[in-house]
Amino acid sequence: MKPVLELRDVHRTYRIGESTVNALRGVTLTIDPGEFIAIMGPSGSGKSSLLQILGLLDNPDQGEFLILGHDINSFSEDEQAGLRNNLAGFVFQQFHLLKRMSIVDNVRLPHIYSGLKGNFREEARQRLALVGLENRIGHTPNQLSGGEQQRVAIARALIRDPLIIFADEPTGNLDTKNSLEIMKILKDLNEKGKTVIMVTHEPDIAAFANRVITMRDGLIVSDERRERVSVAAAELRESDFSFMTGARSSRLKDGRFIGFMAQAFQSILANKMRSFLSMLGILVGVASVIAMLALGEGAKAAMQEQFKSMGSNMLSVRGGSAMLHGAAQGSGAVARFTFRDAEDIAGLRPLVKAADGTISGNVRAVYENSNWSTSLNGVGYDYGTMRAAVPAIGRWFTREEIQARAKVAIVGVTVARELFGSTNPVGRTIKINRINFKIIGIAPAKGFSGPRDEDDVVMIPVTTAMYRVLGKDYLSGIFVEVSSPAMMQQAKHSIDDLLRKNHHLSQDDDSFNIRDMTEIQQMLTSTTQTMSLLLGSIAAISLVVGGIGIMNIMLVSVTERTREIGLRKSIGARKNDIMLQFLVESVGMTLSGGVIGILIGIGTSFLLSFFAGWAVKTSVFSILLASVFSVMTGLFFGLWPARKAAELKPVEALRYE
Ligand code: ADP
Ligand code: MG
Repeated sequence: MKPVLELRDVHRTYRIGESTVNALRGVTLTIDPGEFIAIMGPSGSGKSSLLQILGLLDNPDQGEFLILGHDINSFSEDEQAGLRNNLAGFVFQQFHLLKRMSIVDNVRLPHIYSGLKGNFREEARQRLALVGLENRIGHTPNQLSGGEQQRVAIARALIRDPLIIFADEPTGNLDTKNSLEIMKILKDLNEKGKTVIMVTHEPDIAAFANRVITMRDGLIVSDERRERVSVAAAELRESDFSFMTGARSSRLKDGRFIGFMAQAFQSILANKMRSFLSMLGILVGVASVIAMLALGEGAKAAMQEQFKSMGSNMLSVRGGSAMLHGAAQGSGAVARFTFRDAEDIAGLRPLVKAADGTISGNVRAVYENSNWSTSLNGVGYDYGTMRAAVPAIGRWFTREEIQARAKVAIVGVTVARELFGSTNPVGRTIKINRINFKIIGIAPAKGFSGPRDEDDVVMIPVTTAMYRVLGKDYLSGIFVEVSSPAMMQQAKHSIDDLLRKNHHLSQDDDSFNIRDMTEIQQMLTSTTQTMSLLLGSIAAISLVVGGIGIMNIMLVSVTERTREIGLRKSIGARKNDIMLQFLVESVGMTLSGGVIGILIGIGTSFLLSFFAGWAVKTSVFSILLASVFSVMTGLFFGLWPARKAAELKPVEALRYE
């Protein structure tokens, strides 16, 4: 019969800094199917080192090791994990049960790495029945005695029907009575065909074995076979063997991923407070992304609404070079327009439908005891229709009033509120820079354009504004309505030529500029975009900080669970399995933080619109963006801890304190 395990002159040396320990110094050993071997010897003689090499938890530095005739060096780390899962069952002195899981879940845990489909609860129950614990299925390890916990560990070692059971001082933490029970179970398993390799230093425990190997200082000093009960050991076919090492296909299609998810949430819930605190950063980041984008979108939509009402075939001629709020650049000269300019532009038919000069300034408006600083708009007759400023309450100016420098005014809703509260201002008289004006209407509400309150305005005839209130004899701008949007460019050119001729300006003089509403709209949009970008980057910083928080907690979690990782590796978890487990956990955290953040963000923007009256618009895009970002954060910041966990060597992880 082919030996199961074969060691030829195997060495194992540990290095701790400068010093080295020769744990194994040339061990040669052959193990046949069906043997029950006890490895004995004083503490530090290399028993555990030998068992770990036999169980593929560690590899020799030197010498040969064959499993069923196959050289161990021909297997990769992951193939060795596959062999551990299929061939070996481990029982440790410290039991190594996962405390958060019920014992039935502990017992079926190796199946999560087997790649086989099914839920294996029934199998787990059968194995527990084998060790006499079938009625403790739902209990957690903490509710069991040491002896019972070790029996659970044996049941777990049996779930994959392994060929060999490895036990390192399985009775080391147990009293005599429990020790005997455990030994009876192992003996029984051996009689049913399992090869059992056990480390112990108690002779009466070793007495159960039919071969006793004694070690001293990393060498085998004696190897005694007792009378050999011939057992029907399971034979293994070549095809079975390659199946055991072979890469499992369609890995995520089996139930494994769901298993990982369930475990991730279990562990997130096990540390509720800690998980919540580490999620907080992501939560705040995502909530602010959602709220900021909602505000930005809302402002944009409100602005577009306004521009729509203004019409798309408007031109605005202003003094100064091409900057939005009229600050002069270049030559520094600012053109001063006259009524002749406005009339000449209006005369450019059929390109131009109407043109109206305007002048603006800042004034103080007074009514009884209230006074209010506001902006004054001197306007012409056509301005009302061009800029949608004709009052719904009251009326627009007549042509005569504008001709005659009449002292009549139309107030915006902000001015009306500040001076008159809730009473109707139409028909009252207010003082504008000490001159009495009769109010004839309230301008339609326009809301904000960027930071500017469009309703904080008083309109009076342009002539009155120039000669009576502001004391200027020129216009500050001209509004032009072009006949159709298609003629915009042509109209712009004609107006440009006309004004240059009227004012004797050269071609490169930039003392005035002509803009259409789409340009103004673009400039305002780009301002709001800059704002959104700024707010967005604050949110992004918060996401990064949150991500670092998650990484920190994941690193703590990896350290805390080093022994769990060791156990998982010993029962067959491959590198990717461990990595996936931790990634699912960190993504689980960031994603839940993200989802809560999205809800809070939507709630916040709703409250802002409800109580502060701000225009908000939550977009599906921002929700998608936030979700994608939180997943990415989880992946990115979980990757390092996950890799760190996956790189751990099974033996070292298991002995971590
Ligand atoms: P036993 O199980 O017989 O008590 P071990 O095989 O655990 O002995 O250890 C053999 C020797 O190797 C001991 O001197 C021990 O200190 C040393 N040793 C075991 N594991 C390590 C390790 N991971 N790093 C350093 N030294 C180790
Ligand atoms: Mg030991």
